[in-house]
Parts: sequence; C-alpha cells; structure tokens
Amino acid sequence: MAATIADPPGAGGLTAEERLLRDTAREFAARELAPTAAERDEAERFDRTIFSRMAELGLSGAPLPESVGGAGFSYLGWTLVMEELGAADMASAVMLSVHILSQYPVVTFGTAAQHEDWLTPMLAGEALGAFCLTEPHAGSDAAALRTHASRIDEAGEELPADAPADAVAEYRLHGTKIWISNAPEADRYLVFATIDPAKGPKGITAFLVEKGTPGFGFGAHERKMGIRACPAAELIFDGAVVPASRRLGEEGQGYRIALSALAEGRISIAAACVGIGRSALEQAAAYLHQRTAFGAPLAELQGLRFMVAEMAREVASARALTHEAARAKDRGEAIGELSSLAKWTASDAAMRVATDAVQLFGGSGYSRETGIERLMRDAKGAQIYEGTNQIHREIVAGEVLKRARG
Ligand SMILES: Cc1cc2nc3c(=O)[nH]c(=O)nc-3n(C[C@H](O)[C@H](O)[C@H](O)COP(=O)(O)OP(=O)(O)OC[C@H]3O[C@@H](n4cnc5c(N)ncnc54)[C@H](O)[C@@H]3O)c2cc1C
Repeated sequence: MAATIADPPGAGGLTAEERLLRDTAREFAARELAPTAAERDEAERFDRTIFSRMAELGLSGAPLPESVGGAGFSYLGWTLVMEELGAADMASAVMLSVHILSQYPVVTFGTAAQHEDWLTPMLAGEALGAFCLTEPHAGSDAAALRTHASRIDEAGEELPADAPADAVAEYRLHGTKIWISNAPEADRYLVFATIDPAKGPKGITAFLVEKGTPGFGFGAHERKMGIRACPAAELIFDGAVVPASRRLGEEGQGYRIALSALAEGRISIAAACVGIGRSALEQAAAYLHQRTAFGAPLAELQGLRFMVAEMAREVASARALTHEAARAKDRGEAIGELSSLAKWTASDAAMRVATDAVQLFGGSGYSRETGIERLMRDAKGAQIYEGTNQIHREIVAGEVLKRARG
C-alpha cells in the first residue's frame, strides 16, 4: 500500500509484520469507518456492527496476550492500528481503546476463571467493555470516589470493615459514575468502588459487573462536543449485587489496578491522536494545492507553507514519542512517565494541528460539511480524558523530581 504523505520516512523502523498490520488497519479504516464517520458524528449514532467487524480482524483483543486468547500484537503494533483508526474516526478508536482498557487489568489481576468467563466473549467481540472510574465528585482526584461496596456474608448480613475478605459472599454497590464511555451500549463494566472511604485509595476495589444486573442502570447520556459516535453515560448503582467471584484482585487493590490500566491506555490514546493530527495535516496539505487565491495555489504562500511544516513537525514528534512509549512497554519497562508524556504531547499536537487545519481551509474548515472541524472537536476530548494534560504534567514532574532527589 502506498505511504501517505505523513508516514515516517522509509518504513519508520517497522518490521514487515508491523507494516502489514498498519496497512490492514488502514484499509479497514478506509473501508469501514471513514465513509460513515461524519454521518455517525452528526447523528450521535453508535454502530455496533463496527465493533463486530473489528473483532473479525482480531482487534477486540489486539494487544492482549495469546495465553488468554488475545491476538498478541506487540504494543507498537497496537499503536500502529490505533493511529489508523484515529485518522479515520476517533469515535471508533476511542470505543475500541476503552474496550481494551477494560480488559487489561483482568489479564494481569484476574483469576483463571475470570480469564475464561469474563474475557472470552470480550475477546470474541460478543461483549463490549467499559472502564468506570469517574464520579460527579471525583475526576482528576479519582481516589476521592464515593461509590460504595458493602461486604455481605453468606447469611445476607453486612460485615464490618475488619472482617476477613474470605468471609464475603457478595458485595452490594451504591453510587453514581459519570462520563463512562461505551455506556449504555457496553455489556461488561470494570467498576471501581470503595469498601471503606476512610482508607482513601487503599479502600478502592475493582469489580466486574454485567449489564442487566439488578440494581445497576443508566442515567443521563453525555451530550458531547466530539467523539459523538462513541456514547458516554451515567451509571447508577442502587444495591447491585456482585458475587465475590467477580471481585478483581484483592480488596484495596483497585486504585493500583486503575492506574496501571490507564498507563497502558494512554499510549493507545496518544496513537489515535497522532492519527487525528496526520489526517488534519494530509487534508490541509491537499487543500493548499487545490485552492487558489490571488492567481496562485495557496501552497505557494510561504506563511502557509510554514504552517504545514510546523504541523508535520508536531505529528512526527508525537508519533516518535508514542512509539518510544510503546517500545518501552514491549520491553517490559516501567511506562508511567513515558505514557503520560506521549498522551499529553500527542493530544496537544492533535489539537494544534487540527486547529491549524481549520484555519487553512478558511470558511470551508469551519463548515460541518468538510469534516475538518470534527477533528478539532475530537482532539479536544483527548486533552481531558484518561487524565487531563494538567495531571500528566503533575505525573511527569513527580517522576523527574524523584530522580533528581536520588
Ligand atoms: C470524552 C470523555 C470520555 C470519558 N470517558 C471516561 C470513561 O470511559 N471512564 C471514566 O472513568 N471517565 C471518563 N471520562 C472522565 C474523565 O476521565 C474526567 O473528565 C477527567 O479525569 C477530568 O475529571 P473532571 O472532569 O472531574 O475534571 P476536574 O478533575 O474537576 O478538573 C477540572 C480542571 O482542573 C484541573 N485540575 C484538577 N486537578 C488538578 C491538579 N492537581 N493540578 C492541576 N490542575 C488540576 C484539570 O486539569 C481541569 O482542567 C471521560 C471524559 C471525557 C471528556
């Protein structure tokens, strides 16, 4: 397949297998996502068949290990796929990224039985996942979440906080989550709740909750600026019963589980943002050749050429950092700092490049007809979710200063 104008020079250090993966994802995105992306955005329409088609390609478990039934892509391979999806349709990229995000922790912290009965339908694309952390009073400060999991014994009595965990037969969830992507369409929800608010982050515990569980329902749908074809909604827990076998990891391990999943998910979002930036750059560059003003193509105006060069610099830098984070993950290294750097850099790059693309298209860029403004709206969300870019500055500063202290 021909390289696009924004591909890295040469093969970008990719293996033949990685190039094949990228090209397959590019063809899929061109065929299945791009033609309907604008219409689905306009109508705020979620299309479940897209998820099924992704599953046919193995994308519903793309970076998960083969040992649990995943496709076993390298993390770098996964970022190549996400860049292609993000370039065509960020809403579908986010939908898949969240589905993967909700499965990672089950791979790492789940029991063999949970691998089997929780992951199998998700990997097969029969069940869509959601990751449920944010609450009305706990966004950036996720450790302040209030959704409560009371501990219930065999006799149906509530257990005190200091009773041993093996005495717990089931948990009952009460509380509200907001901004949960893929809800209410998702079938399987990874939910974080506290068994003891006094313990702060050490009380947070992860639960696997199925749609249809009595006492678990949906509230308002978020009316979003961008990624409008990927739904997001409020979750309401009113005594939802979760058997002890559906607790993920140990009691009190939930915060660590959430943070480790997010570190991986941020690389995936960074890659999709590289896709947004690349798409904006490609479309703007083509437009500058096509559009004439003052008797010559816009592409001859140095002021605009310099904008194109800066856009290309943004995309290439964001991609390089994203690939570095993915390669670090593939090598099994700690990725907290790098994934924050990648997500912060790539989402800011996507926002700047998409905004410049709107400018280069002039009035046509501001029109909803060309789809350029959609890139700008979609990029904005990525500066906010999976940790705002202010929180990433905090994470990076914390790591750098920790090293400086020695
Ligand atoms: C499109 C979209 C999809 C989402 N999907 C999901 C999902 O699937 N699951 C989920 O659990 N959540 C999801 N979220 C929620 C998202 O994670 C939160 O919106 C985000 O963490 C920020 O929390 P908040 O909205 O409460 O903002 P706040 O935390 O209230 O922040 C408000 C402002 O204050 C700044 N701020 C806060 N604390 C600090 C600090 N210590 N230092 C400097 N600045 C700070 C923030 O950067 C921000 O600018 C989604 C959000 C969006 C927009």
